[in-house]
Amino acid sequence: MRHWVTGVGLFLLLGTFVHETVAQDRLPIIDMHMHPGSFTQTVAAMDHYNIVLGFLSSRRLDDVFEWVEALPGRFIASPQVRDPADVDLGRLRREYEAGRFGGMGEISSQYAGIAADDPVLEPIFALAEEFDVPVLIHSHGTGGRNSPQFRIEIGRPTRIEEVLIRHPALRISIEASGFPFLESTIALMLHYPNVYGDLSTWKYTREIFEWYLLRLLDAGLGSRLMFGSDVAEGRPEVIGESIEAIESISFLTQVQKRDIFCNNAARFLSLDPVVCQ
Ligand SMILES: [Zn+2]
Repeated sequence: MRHWVTGVGLFLLLGTFVHETVAQDRLPIIDMHMHPGSFTQTVAAMDHYNIVLGFLSSRRLDDVFEWVEALPGRFIASPQVRDPADVDLGRLRREYEAGRFGGMGEISSQYAGIAADDPVLEPIFALAEEFDVPVLIHSHGTGGRNSPQFRIEIGRPTRIEEVLIRHPALRISIEASGFPFLESTIALMLHYPNVYGDLSTWKYTREIFEWYLLRLLDAGLGSRLMFGSDVAEGRPEVIGESIEAIESISFLTQVQKRDIFCNNAARFLSLDPVVCQ
């Protein structure tokens, strides 16, 4: 039996109580960047901060499905794709047909030295377009210290441009809003309105996080920036840390914060905006 199953029982006992006593003080949040880790602690944080929906991806597809089954309606299930050669496309197609997947990615092929515009990723993007699911892609300049095939340069967001030309209906969220490729990110997002960015940049230093966010806002992209904790195995506390990092930014208005925490993601996901109220 998986280690988190005992936690599910605890959640069922306490979940309603926690949700009613804490979350009602907070407006809804959508977390556009989550990976499975500790189920009990992650769900407790989601309830505490009123995260009503999380975009959840892993290469361990069964982990994703187990979370969805344990907490129906709170996650968008999505397969993480690193090297497309390792992906069972037939299975992915069956899962999309069955409605069990609602997203594509995190596509983390940068860790395998594969750029977004590499033809080997073409079937992955084609599948996302065919089933009209939102895509999350690791396309920026950090990460990969322990991955010998990782390359900084292929993470430049403009490498996604050819994908968008081939698949103009794709909705793509760029992890960390392309940090630190600021010019490339702004150019791509200004030209392609279906491109959004998540703010998992919160994990860098406060000065860098604020500096980068301010430049994106100055470029007029405030309606396409979304909250993303990048919570993963071993560090459930990053959910709270990432929310508080954004809440404490003095130059953001309440309207901008609500857009980042929920409204922009609801639009990106084609959800009824009432989900954010
Ligand atoms: Zn991630």
